[in-house]
Amino acid sequence: MTLELILQNLPWEGDFDYEAECILRLFFPGEKIAVLHQPQTPQGDWVSAVLTGQGEGIAIELSVQIGGQTQKARDLVLPSEIVVGGMEWEAERRLCLLLYEALCRMTGIRPPWGILTGVRPVNFCRKLQRELGSIAAVRESLIRDYQVLPQKADLALSTLQAQESILATNTPESYSLYVGIPFCPTRCLYCSFVSHAIDRAGKLVPEYLELLCRELEEIAAIASRLGLHLRTVYIGGGTPTTLEPEQLAKLLGQMEKSFPLFQSSEYTVEAGRPDSITREKLQVLKDFGVSRISINPQALDDKVLQAIGRAHTAQETLDAMALAREMGFDNVNMDLIVGLPEQTPESFNRSLEQVLALGAENITIHTLTVKRSSDLRATFGSDAYDRGSYPLDALLAQSQEKLRQAGYRPYYLYRQQGSRQNQENTGFCLPGREGLYNIFSMEDAHTILAAGAGAVTKLCAPPDKVRRVFNYKYPYEYISGFEEILNRKRQITEFYKEGSP
Ligand code: SF4
Repeated sequence: MTLELILQNLPWEGDFDYEAECILRLFFPGEKIAVLHQPQTPQGDWVSAVLTGQGEGIAIELSVQIGGQTQKARDLVLPSEIVVGGMEWEAERRLCLLLYEALCRMTGIRPPWGILTGVRPVNFCRKLQRELGSIAAVRESLIRDYQVLPQKADLALSTLQAQESILATNTPESYSLYVGIPFCPTRCLYCSFVSHAIDRAGKLVPEYLELLCRELEEIAAIASRLGLHLRTVYIGGGTPTTLEPEQLAKLLGQMEKSFPLFQSSEYTVEAGRPDSITREKLQVLKDFGVSRISINPQALDDKVLQAIGRAHTAQETLDAMALAREMGFDNVNMDLIVGLPEQTPESFNRSLEQVLALGAENITIHTLTVKRSSDLRATFGSDAYDRGSYPLDALLAQSQEKLRQAGYRPYYLYRQQGSRQNQENTGFCLPGREGLYNIFSMEDAHTILAAGAGAVTKLCAPPDKVRRVFNYKYPYEYISGFEEILNRKRQITEFYKEGSP
């Protein structure tokens, strides 16, 4: 498909490619899209948008030809009509709206988040709130100016309100620590992370852990010199409980030695895969003061689990949760995914009811996302985006209602490109049991110092200054390029010396 964007006589060097392409992807996930900036003789499916300066305004001429259908639309953007931001922002919003509405008419699909294509709708709502003032004004603008469905606007705004009191505890010195363990028992069909199956990559673990401990020491020394204050710790990946008990003890021992863990109000370890959980490993987590764990069923249906390459049964999740409770873990997150292969609405509902019956303090409902690097995409090609499709909107709305009735409320929310039917991922929790790390990291509230392969340090000075420092992605690169990873840590100190924006 060709997306032709032509900008003429504009008072700025506009670049709307990314947003316009994201709108197209809402309707045609997985399609190849070529963006051009010169007029071409149209061939096949194409979209053409010409933006021309007209006095103080911007005229937009849109033509869409897809699957033999043609749509044409035009708009004139005037300075008096700016919703937020300047003319450039407004012209981009109006171009996206024009394209969105044309594609809705052509395809009969209405993506529920309208023209919001970013991963963090709550963050966007917070920006709108700063401009528009009240929550009611933000809601109205989301629905009218961004074509967000009312139920999605309400979900985002409830989430925003749930975060307020937690974000108010943040200080300029606050930071969280992320530690990545990129190993898993097997690789899930939909996985796009760097995680490696332990049977093939297990030989890397001892050296990986050695270097990880050195990286943690270095981060701790920098944080201490800068006078930073540790708020939360999150050990994820991957599946950290893929490590053997003594390897876990080595890692958590290093954490205890290097960091003032007493300062942090949350210490999470992802014990995501039930087939990686044993009494000995949970005992190590308890001994080192881990306060929150994740046990992620994704589905409590063996047929679905088998289809997505999880080498465990639903019963193993129930057993792992019973063991965790017996050992005193009283803050547990459980993830479920909607839209999985072989999953039916009934199967998803049964899984949700079982997770509710287990009384997990956090329940995160994800929508299956098809990533280019996943086995799901490799196996099914572009069909991966449609397989098992049934209307997810109603199913998610029902599940949110069930969660609300059981006393849960949404506390963090994000979206991913390629998620089935453009739905979202939402974390729900019982009162006072919000996963703090999730909020701080998703909302760029404070710096996340990160260690391990694939980890990304995110240096934040709210409201808007964010700089990322990347570690190498794969464990073998992490090992071979370790000195460079340590070098890059200098950027942390430089960032704090530069001061706030
Ligand atoms: S458990 Fe998570 S990180 Fe591991 S393979 Fe599955 S999706 Fe990937």
